[in-house]
Amino acid sequence: MASGGIDLVLIAPSADMVYFAAYAGHASERPTLLAIGGDAAPWMAVPMLEAPRVPDADSVRLLAYEETEDPIVRLRQVLAPSSGVRVAISDTAWASVLLRLQAAFPDGRFIPASPLIRELRMMKAEEELAHLRRAGALADAAFADVIQQRFAGRREREIAEELNALLRARGLRTSGHLPIVASGPNSASPHHLTGDREIHEGDAVVLDFGGTVEGYYADITRTVHVGTPDDEFRHVYLVVKQAQEAGVRAVAPGVEAQKVDAVTRGVIAAAGYADFFIHRTGHGIGLEGHEEPYIVAGNALALAPGMTFSVEPGIYLPGRFGVRIEDIVAVTAAGAESLNQASHELVIVH
Ligand code: ZN
Ligand code: ZN
Ligand code: ZN
Repeated sequence: MASGGIDLVLIAPSADMVYFAAYAGHASERPTLLAIGGDAAPWMAVPMLEAPRVPDADSVRLLAYEETEDPIVRLRQVLAPSSGVRVAISDTAWASVLLRLQAAFPDGRFIPASPLIRELRMMKAEEELAHLRRAGALADAAFADVIQQRFAGRREREIAEELNALLRARGLRTSGHLPIVASGPNSASPHHLTGDREIHEGDAVVLDFGGTVEGYYADITRTVHVGTPDDEFRHVYLVVKQAQEAGVRAVAPGVEAQKVDAVTRGVIAAAGYADFFIHRTGHGIGLEGHEEPYIVAGNALALAPGMTFSVEPGIYLPGRFGVRIEDIVAVTAAGAESLNQASHELVIVH
C-alpha cells in the first residue's frame, strides 16, 4: 500500500474477504466492506443483522450499522481520510457501492485492488498448500471411485450427480453446480454444460470435477473411454498426455507463466493439432476455482515457489471427441509438485 501510495483498501464480499477476515460476507443491497488503511486496525462495516455471522477477531473492528444508517457515511466518519485519498477497491464490489463511495469521497481516487492483493493471494502459505494437497488427494480418490461405475446407458447428468456424491463421501465440499461430464461429441466442447445425453459404448467422456477443503479448491480432469478406443483416439490421448506432462516438467521458479503454455502448445502443434487446442493451458487455484496466475500466452509473470495452478491442455475435434488431462501443480524450489496423483494412463470404462 505504501509503495503504491494507497491510503485505503476496501474489500467487498469475495474470496479476498475470506482471505483477510475469514468471512465471506454477503453481497446485497446492504453493503459489507472491510476497510484496511494506514496503521489503525481494519474496520468491517456490516449490517447489524449480519454482525453475528462475523467470526470474532481482535484484529478487526466491527462497524455494525442499523437499517436507517448509511454505512458509507459511517465509514467516512471513522476513517476520517484526508482529502485526495487514494482508494483501492475490490473488483467484485457492486457498482452501486462504488458509486456511493465516490459520492462520499468526492476528491478520492479509486483504483482496482486486484494488482495489490494478487501478490498475496498467489503465494500460498504452508497451511494453504496443505488444504490444496488434501483437496487434490480426495479428488483423485473420487476418480478411482467413479471409474468403477457403469457409464454405458446412463445420462451425463446421472454420472455427474454420482460423481458429486462420491466427492462428498470422500470429504470434499461440492457447490450446487454439477461437474463437467462431456460424452461423445460433447467432449469436444471444453466447458460443456452437463446434460441429458445418454452415454454409449465408443464414447470418450471428459470428467472435470473438484470441490473444496477449508475453502480451497480441487480441480482435476481425466478423459476416459467407454469400451475399446480406436487408434486415432489413442493417438490423440497420447499427445495430450505428453503435452500435459511436458508442461508440468517446464514449471520452475523464474520460468514465465506463458512458457508453460508454449510448451504444452508446442507438443500439440508438433502432432498437427494446433488448431484444436482452443483454450489457455491453465489457471491459478486457491480460495477460487480460477484465480491468478493464468498460464496463457502474453503472461510474462515469473513463476515462484508457492504458486498453484492447473496444467490442462486438450485437443477438441468438433463433432467427434475431445481429450483433456488436468492436474494442479504447486511451484517448489526445485520445480513442480503435482497435487493430483491419479494416473494419466487411459482408463477404459464400461
Ligand atoms: Zn475450465
Ligand atoms: Zn477442471
Ligand atoms: Zn481447471
